[in-house]
Amino acid sequence: MIFTYSPNENIASLTRGQIEEKYKWNLRDIYKSDDEWGKNFELVENAIEQYDNFIGKLNESPEVLLSCFQLDDEIGIKIERLYLYAMLNRDSDMREPVYQAMDSRIKTLYSKVTKANSFISPELLKIPDAQLLKTVRSFNGLQIYEHFVNELLRRKSHTLSQKEEEILAMSGEVTQIPYTAFSLFTNADLKFGNIKDDKGREIEISPAKFYAALYSQDREFRKRAFNAFLRPYTEYVNTLSSLFNGNLKVNIFNAKARKYSSAREAALDRNNIPVSVYDNLIQTANNNLKPLHRWATLKKRMLNLSELHSYDLYVSLFSVNGGRKYSYEEGVEIVCKALEPLGQEYLDCLKIAFNNRWIDVYETTAKRSGAYSSGTTFGIHPFVLLNWTDLLNDIFTLAHEMGHNMHSYYTGINQPFIYANYTIFLAEVASTFNESLLLDYLILNSESKEEKLYLLEKYLNNITATFYRQTMFAEFEMNVYDRTEEGEALTHDLLCKMYRDINQKYWGPELIIDKEEEFTWARIPHFYYNFYVYQYATGFAASEVLASKVKNEKKPAVDKYLQFLKSGSSDYSIDILKNAGVDMNSAEPIIATTRKMDQLLDKVESLLNGG
Ligand SMILES: [Zn+2]
Repeated sequence: MIFTYSPNENIASLTRGQIEEKYKWNLRDIYKSDDEWGKNFELVENAIEQYDNFIGKLNESPEVLLSCFQLDDEIGIKIERLYLYAMLNRDSDMREPVYQAMDSRIKTLYSKVTKANSFISPELLKIPDAQLLKTVRSFNGLQIYEHFVNELLRRKSHTLSQKEEEILAMSGEVTQIPYTAFSLFTNADLKFGNIKDDKGREIEISPAKFYAALYSQDREFRKRAFNAFLRPYTEYVNTLSSLFNGNLKVNIFNAKARKYSSAREAALDRNNIPVSVYDNLIQTANNNLKPLHRWATLKKRMLNLSELHSYDLYVSLFSVNGGRKYSYEEGVEIVCKALEPLGQEYLDCLKIAFNNRWIDVYETTAKRSGAYSSGTTFGIHPFVLLNWTDLLNDIFTLAHEMGHNMHSYYTGINQPFIYANYTIFLAEVASTFNESLLLDYLILNSESKEEKLYLLEKYLNNITATFYRQTMFAEFEMNVYDRTEEGEALTHDLLCKMYRDINQKYWGPELIIDKEEEFTWARIPHFYYNFYVYQYATGFAASEVLASKVKNEKKPAVDKYLQFLKSGSSDYSIDILKNAGVDMNSAEPIIATTRKMDQLLDKVESLLNGG
């Protein structure tokens, strides 16, 4: 499931009963009733014992192997559907205890299944590779499992003996402590001070209020929010650096135990991403930092500042006609128009989604905030949760989530269950691709210079936040692991210095870095996700290239793009992207993204100069 976080502080006034049916998702597409859910739950519960029939027998005959795979698929398909129904009902009204209970029952059931089928992989790995592959390739019905088996064999050299695997599994409860402690400490224990907001009201600062404050036109307020938000991280720096280092050591320990040469190699190997893809991203971005420096210079000039600080980086330079409102229907129309380059087949699928209640549009009492697409659930279309507020931003969220939605939909109807999902490496490609087409469409059709500037700035901020900033985080993450693996002790002073240096390098000489900003490493939860953030940057770069191919090359590029949406996880992520027309092992997509930033800056400057 893909979440897009957007803090929503409005209090919902409407109940679900007050919303027209057509704006609410139709969960009867999943099950007709809670009763039907209950019956299917029992079916799975009773089916679990069937796994026992296969223990020790997978090498007996291809028929037995196929039956075992099919049982596992059937149970997997049912569990996903049970989970989807519980999740979407729960998110429709978070107060409803029936669905809270369903949700926790399904989690327990899921862990029972994982325990029951845990014999499959080790047993397959005991069969000689060539024999296993031959069986899978030659027996009718087993062929679709070939990539799955290849994947299993690929990771064989990093799979340990049963005893060692058991010890590693037991260590899991210990090794998750740094992240759990960080999470509880920063979310529950850390107290942020009170400050005066831009209207003179006393507010208690929080992560959501801090991010909102960064967009305020009142610079003193931005500065107050920045200082108040970061102060606790500076005060508890010993605790936070211990947790930070603890997390690094956990991932290094796991990588070593599995015979990887580095934590980074181990993390990337999960999706068979070569380390060279990561190196290429960092190196190429480093060679092309000029557009970001140029943006910093322009911001400073436009804001008329003598010094550009971190709290000045996100405030809007341009605003558009007093916040024009868009109805949901207008939003749908704009998104369909913007996605026209994808051709009739894609548009027809989009319309099926819009016309058949796949989307829950409006905010209602106790509904989950933000937006998401539910991902692929085999045998059923994906759903989208929105909290429409009539703003331009909602149209971007709609385009983004429909990107995920169509990716899941195409994958679901074209792949067998085992490949009917996609990796995180691919996940944000389809969503940012749609946002890119939407921006181009809106810029092209904007009616005034102000509107055009506003949209260009939005595009620039997207590249800054999703490409440059995440690459900067990825480089920092790489450096802290490298130095730890070389035996260096990362004191908090060193972490602060490393973060300051890299931040200065990316933003260039115009940025004045306050002491507080150096503590960013201490507050970002993504540094606990084990080499996760680089995928935001690679996904963004891939989508930029694919979007420009679709615009320039038309039909051949569209066909390849649709093939990408249909591929699920039937092949390795890097190869799926290569087939779509973008090679993430080459510098080209990274350069294309930075060049796009330069072109956008050219347009902004020419408009400002009266062009
Ligand atoms: Zn997304």
